[in-house]
Amino acid sequence: MGLTGGIGAGKSTVAALLEAHGAVVTSADEISRDVVSPGSDGLAAVVAEFGDEVLTPAGTLDRRALGNLVFADDLSRARLEEILLPLIAAEAWARMEAVPAGRVAVYDVPLLVEGQMQDLFDLVVVVEADLELRLERLAERGMEREKALARIASQATDDERRAVADIVLSNSGSIDQLSADVDRLWSTRIMGSGTNV
Ligand code: ADP
Repeated sequence: MGLTGGIGAGKSTVAALLEAHGAVVTSADEISRDVVSPGSDGLAAVVAEFGDEVLTPAGTLDRRALGNLVFADDLSRARLEEILLPLIAAEAWARMEAVPAGRVAVYDVPLLVEGQMQDLFDLVVVVEADLELRLERLAERGMEREKALARIASQATDDERRAVADIVLSNSGSIDQLSADVDRLWSTRIMGSGTNV
């Protein structure tokens, strides 16, 4: 199953609820950190392209320095994506393949729509919430409104996500409501259909 949603919509919360039902969740965010961990081929390739200034003194990736280099430079950003996206895809595929038969495999990926991954899954679940609620929840998590709005503007729109969704989970209510909706999704669309990807 592919699980996505705009930032602050509640995707991670749904991932945790699915995990509580026994799903095995693979996180694209976690993989994108792992592929550039110290000693990785990914980090070596990024340094070969962008130079030592993208390393911290401790030899880890300096995300801020890299971000500054690729921000506002489409060519650099494209080059970075060219390096990282295949590594992320290969690692994601390997982890999804390693999920034992009979367990439900969930790929938690913020940019499912932007990366046109919708056809890779039996089921695409999109989490949505009203914009103001997303901004409030992100603010509680420490992200400023302006920054949150900029991130939201850089992502696909709700309509674009809805267009590829098999299921849309609305998360404009309470966590209890969301949890009940995930319970229903689990029993009707997942356990009921024999799907496991
Ligand atoms: P995403 O992974 O889509 O960015 P999260 O699942 O991390 O979003 O949710 C964003 C924030 O909102 C988190 O702090 C989360 O605990 C909180 N949150 C999620 N759903 C609800 C809800 N229904 N009511 C209140 N807070 C929520």
